[in-house]
Order: sequence, then C-alpha cells, then structure tokens
Amino acid sequence: MRCWILTIGDELINGLRVDTNTAWLAARLSDLGVEVERAVSLGDEEGAIRDALAGALAGTDLVIVSGGLGPTQDDRTKPAVAAHFGVGMTRIPEIEEAVRTFFATRGRSITPVNLDQALVPDGFAWHINPRGTAPGLLKEQDGRLLFVLPGVPGEMRAFWHDWLEPLLQDRLGDRHIIRRRWFQTTGIGESDLFNRVGGLEDLAPTITLAYLPSAWGVALYVTGKGEDAPAVEAALAQAEARIVAGSGDWFFARGDVTLAEHLAGQLRGRGLHLAVAESCTGGLLADTLTNVPGASEWLDRTWVTYSNRSKTEELGVPAELIAAQGAVSEPVARAMAEGARQQSGSDFALATTGIAGPTGGTPEKPVGLVYLACAGPAGTVVRRYLQGENGRRYNKQRAAANALDLLRRLVEKRNPFQGGWESPG
Ligand code: ATP
Ligand code: MG
Repeated sequence: MRCWILTIGDELINGLRVDTNTAWLAARLSDLGVEVERAVSLGDEEGAIRDALAGALAGTDLVIVSGGLGPTQDDRTKPAVAAHFGVGMTRIPEIEEAVRTFFATRGRSITPVNLDQALVPDGFAWHINPRGTAPGLLKEQDGRLLFVLPGVPGEMRAFWHDWLEPLLQDRLGDRHIIRRRWFQTTGIGESDLFNRVGGLEDLAPTITLAYLPSAWGVALYVTGKGEDAPAVEAALAQAEARIVAGSGDWFFARGDVTLAEHLAGQLRGRGLHLAVAESCTGGLLADTLTNVPGASEWLDRTWVTYSNRSKTEELGVPAELIAAQGAVSEPVARAMAEGARQQSGSDFALATTGIAGPTGGTPEKPVGLVYLACAGPAGTVVRRYLQGENGRRYNKQRAAANALDLLRRLVEKRNPFQGGWESPG
C-alpha cells in the first residue's frame, strides 16, 4: 500500500507552525509497512485543496488529510472534499449528540457553528472524535481510501489509534512483515562509518539501511521487509553482524539508546560512581546524565566551574598553572579531572575545557579546541580535540559526546585514544 499525506493550514506554510503531523503519521505508516510516497502542505484555500485531492486520489491507494476540518470560515477542507466528489452534506444526529455532550461535560455553551461539526459529506463514513469535536471522515472508492482528520495533533493521533491503525492493519493482513533495528555509534563520521560498514546493497531489497547523524554520533537504522518472517529475520541478522563488525569500538549499543543511557548501564553494572567538572560544556553533561532515570545510583556530583577562580576554589587547580598555560590547556583539564575525583571520592571524574566560540579563538587555540580529561583508578587520560567552528551549541554537544565516549572507552577497557571523530587510521 502506498500513501500520500496532505496537511492543511495557512500556519503550516507561512512559517508560524511546524508540521509535526506528517512526521508522526509517516513513522506510524512505515511501521505498518505502508510506503509514504509524498507529503504536501497546503494553505486553507479551497481551490488548492481540491487540486491536491484530485492529484492524490488519482496517484495513490491511501490519502490521509489533516487540518482545516473545523466549522469556522477559515476551515476549508470539508467544503473542498464535498466539492471534489460533487456531493452535499447531511447532518448526522449521533455526531451532533457527541458535540453537545462534549460541551455539556465541560460546562461550556454551544453555538450553531459548533453544531455544524455534525455535517458530513454524503457518501462518507464518519468516526466520532475521541478528543474533540470534528469527526473523522472516510471515503472508500475503487479500492482507494481517503481519510480526513482534524489538524490538532492530539486529536489526529487519537484517531490514528482508535480508527486508522486497526482499519489499516485489517486491510494489510499479515502479508507485509516489517522489522526495524537500531545501532548506535559515536566518535566517527558518517562517511568513515560508511567506508567500514558499506551499504548492504547485496541484502537489498529486503534490507534498507539509513545513516542518521547528529552531534552525538551516527545511528544506523535498518529496516527489513518481506512476506516471510524467518527470511526477514535472517536478513536482519546478516545485516546486524556486518554493522557490528564494521563499526568496531565506535559501536556502543543496540536499540534506541543514548550514549548517556548506555553509560549509565555500564557504571551501574560495575558499581562505579562518577563526578563531572565542566567548563566549556556549561552543564550540558550534567543535564544529559541526569536525563537518565535513576542517575543518583551512579552520578555523585557535577560542577560548572566556568571562571578561573572557580576552577581553583572548587577543584584545587593551581592559579599559577592557569596563568601559565591558560584555562584551555592539557594540564588544566588534567588538574580539573583529578581535583574533581579527589574532592568527590568518585571512581571516575570527567573534565571539559575548550573554546566554544564564536569569539575567543587565536591561531594557537582556535574555536573548537577542546581538552577533555578522565581521571580514574588507573590514572588520568587527557585528549585534545579540534571540533571546528560549528556554533556554540554544536560545540558543547560534540564536547559532551566526546567526554562520555572517553569515559565509556575507559570503563569498557577499549582504546581511549580512538574516537573523537578522527578518521580511523
Ligand atoms: P478544529 O477546528 O476542530 O480544532 P481543525 O482540523 O480545523 O480542527 P486546525 O484549525 O487546522 O484544525 O488546527 C488546529 C490546531 O492544530 C492549530 O493550532 C494548528 O496550528 C495545529 N495543527 C494543524 N495541523 C498541524 C500539523 N500538521 N502539525 C502541527 N500542528 C498542526
Ligand atoms: Mg486550520
């Protein structure tokens, strides 16, 4: 089954609102094995909606429209749909009753405009809104399905769960099997990773592989499709073996798992405690680590020591060392990590210091220069990273990712000098 999504609303095409319905629907549809071929956003304009409907109904098996279904002047979807099919609209008593109940249970008074939600284009099936007042509409013609749903994201989702998903599942039967797997890497660029893992073309068309890069790492997203579950599973197992072998020590976890979540498991499993002293990451490591539920089991404390004075007062970094070497330097990063480990009595301590930019760079110490240190039971490792000029936010995220990866590699007894987005030798 192939699908087009049409989202309707002036606010979606003039920059006032981001269309989240398409992304949400597309993810659910692909999980069902429905291929989304096209997604289009349109303003609240009847002619444009009619044109798009005509194109979609001529071009594909399933059309899902969201938005502009309300009863007010600016909502043009229902009239456009009725005009496209050349039909009138009829008032449906059950919908009117549901709208009255909706208002009554909220202590709100109803207006004639609200009651117009009960108007349904002739020849359409309808479904009461589980969350609001606009009903969902369905037209089935020549084996093609047209769903028309409200734009309010919560209502659209409620219709999906209540109505579209079971109906589509029923139509699709179990002919289409679709299985997905995630693999997480960090510290390696997309093209270097591609050179090591490849495209899995020989496993296609059963298997497709997507590389999804972010500041934190590259996730690999594998989809297996087919008619025969054991065959799909076998192809996925082949893909997995190749991905895990190819991504080496840059691979850290299977599934939809963040680096911090993975690290949490590693620390908890070994009974280890962590302290963090941050300068250039400005608390991002503290945020990332405390986003993991149960972080207090393994996270002891964090400092944001932004000034030179705080590095000295809180972590015992000698003022003379900072004066001689500069705050962004190998010895200061080392002293921060060792000071944090000593102050806290933790097994491991991470420290970050760097030049996030856009100002503050010099030829010797350019924007994007970061020193990260990890002090642990076997001593302290300090590394120098050149992250480049990618904006403050990105530099903070990259430094946080590199710091977590440095710790991961030490905890898991992997090479701590690999990673950091340096090309594999
Ligand atoms: P109703 O009038 O019954 O609320 P409706 O179908 O007319 O339903 P809209 O007026 O189009 O809905 O949109 C309602 C709200 O949902 C608006 O705030 C709108 O910006 C938002 N919205 C609509 N479509 C989308 C979309 N595709 N993605 C994100 N938000 C959306
Ligand atoms: Mg609208």
